Order: sequence, then structure tokens, then C-alpha cells
Amino acid sequence: MSKPRVFSGMRPSGKLHIGNWLGALTNMVELQASYDCIYAAVDVHALTTDDGGSPESLRENVNEMVLDWLAAGIDPKESTVFVQSAVPEVMVLHTLLSMMTPLGWLLRVPTFKDKVRQMDATEESVGYGLVGYPVLMTSDIILYKADTVPVGEDQVPHIELAREIVRRFNSRYGDTFPEPQAKLTEVPLVVGLDGQAKMSKTLDNHVELAAAPEETKKKILTAFTDPERLRKSDPGRPWVCNVYALHKYFTPDQTDEIYEQCTQGTRGCVDCKGILADGVNARLADLRDKRRDLEKHPDYVQDILLDGANRAKEIARATLEEVQEKMGLSRANLERK
Ligand code: SF4
Repeated sequence: MSKPRVFSGMRPSGKLHIGNWLGALTNMVELQASYDCIYAAVDVHALTTDDGGSPESLRENVNEMVLDWLAAGIDPKESTVFVQSAVPEVMVLHTLLSMMTPLGWLLRVPTFKDKVRQMDATEESVGYGLVGYPVLMTSDIILYKADTVPVGEDQVPHIELAREIVRRFNSRYGDTFPEPQAKLTEVPLVVGLDGQAKMSKTLDNHVELAAAPEETKKKILTAFTDPERLRKSDPGRPWVCNVYALHKYFTPDQTDEIYEQCTQGTRGCVDCKGILADGVNARLADLRDKRRDLEKHPDYVQDILLDGANRAKEIARATLEEVQEKMGLSRANLERK
């Protein structure tokens, strides 16, 4: 029996940080055991917010992100790993689905409103592509007839919308696409080192997966802790401390002891951060070794992406052929090749 198919896309943001790793990447690695996984670096999505990145930086960001994927354990023999724009069929499907997606559905998506706010823009001034972002996301998923999409809570409205678009297409043109299901992943909210609620590259409150051990330590030593704790002898409140929140992931066997020592004022924060840095470095040592090896063979990574694109394209072309046939459109472009 064939495995259910997962699609997951990640915007290429360059080198990933430990928040991305805990929040998404470890899950992507685990899913490979039970699903046929299709993993795309969604570079066209990166253009929807037009954040001023150069074409060179977009390509570089894709490359750095894929290096982290492979180093973390994404297996290109098991999973299809490719760059979204290498399979342009997705853009054709996006256009076709746009024809049947009411604008009102898109304007209601909460993340659209959030994005407009973050960009300090208005609904009228943002690009057309940003409004259509969920349609492109739907195209990414259904082009490969994926039935499962691992998402965090905030992405659920997008999957709901994808299901509505699929229902509309299927009822108009006949059963074609499976309705994708959201696979809610427990995404740990990894706090930023600076006390912000979320670790983020933009806020520079993160630790890169690929960072050197010394760099990791230096970064962690700058982390915010319990703001009311001024001296080592002051009893601390680990439950409000970012460093403690990270200990839970990287030094789980020491958290009880740290909790006790912190609340009793017998463990200093610098010392506590040092233990965390050692834990992070130990946990990421293999990943970093593998990444360094991969960096020495850029052709190997490009070959993986080419092979992944070819595999993805095969599925994409068959789907698009079916769609164009059902919609009464010409298939000449597909039949010629
Ligand atoms: Fe946070 Fe550790 Fe300092 Fe307690 S001792 S406040 S857990 S850094």
C-alpha cells in the first residue's frame, strides 16, 4: 500500500535557526518514516512580500536552507526535495485556481491582515501576489495531490481555504483533487534570546543551526533571563526565563536540577547559560559536521535539487494535464514534450 503524501513548503530565509529546527525541521525529518514527503523551498512565495532581497540573495537563501535540511536528516532518496520555481506548472495551476477563488475568501484570511499590518501597508497598496498567497499555497499542495499538510495552528485557515478551493474545483469539474488535511504539529514556541515571544532572524534574537560552538555560546550569553534577578543569591523564576525555556529542549535531563538551583538562588545565570550553550552544541554537533561536509560539495546539493525537480515535475505534469483537459483548455504545451 502506498504511503499517504505530505507536502511541506518552507520560505527560503537562508540559514535556519534552532527555532526553525525545533518548530518544523525535526518534524519534517520524522514524517519521512510514514509518509511520501514532498519538500519544497518555496522561493516564489518569498517574492510575495517584496522585501527588497536581491536575486542572488534569494538563490543563496535557498541553498543555505536546503543545506540545513539535508544536514538535519532530510533524506533525498526517501523524499522529493526541490525548489518551487523549478516546477513552473505550479504557477499555471495558481492562475487557473485564481479564476474560481472569490476575492472575499482571500481578504478574510487572518494572516493576510497580519502581513499587511507588519508591512505597514494597506490592503490596496500590497501586491496582488500577497492576496493570492493562499491560492499559490493550495496549488503547491494539490499539484502533487498531497493529502496531508503539516502545519502550525496559525496556518490552519490556509488549509481550510485550500479545502474550499478543492471542493469548488471538484464540484465544477469532477473529482480531481483530494481535500488536504491539516496535520497539526505541536510547534513549540521557541522564545527569542532577547525576551521577544518568538525566535526570529529578522529580530536577530536567534542561534543559527550552523553557528560555530563559540558563536553559539557568545549569543546565548546575551540572552535575557528573569529580569528581577539581579544577583546569584536572588531566588530566580525559571518559568519567566527564556534560557530555562530552551533548557527544556536541549538539556532535558538537567532541567529539574536547574529549576531547583535557580529558585533557591544557588545557580548563577552566566553559569546556567554556559550549560545551555554546551547542550545546544552537543545536540547539534552531528548536524554541523554533516553540513560542513555538504558545503564542500555544492554540485551534490544542486544534483539533489535537480533530481527532486524532475521527480516533482513528473507528478505536476500529469496533474496539470488532467486539469487542463477537464477545464477544456489546450494541452498542447504538455503533449509536445
Ligand atoms: Fe534563568 Fe538559569 Fe538564571 Fe534561573 S539561573 S534565571 S533559569 S538563566
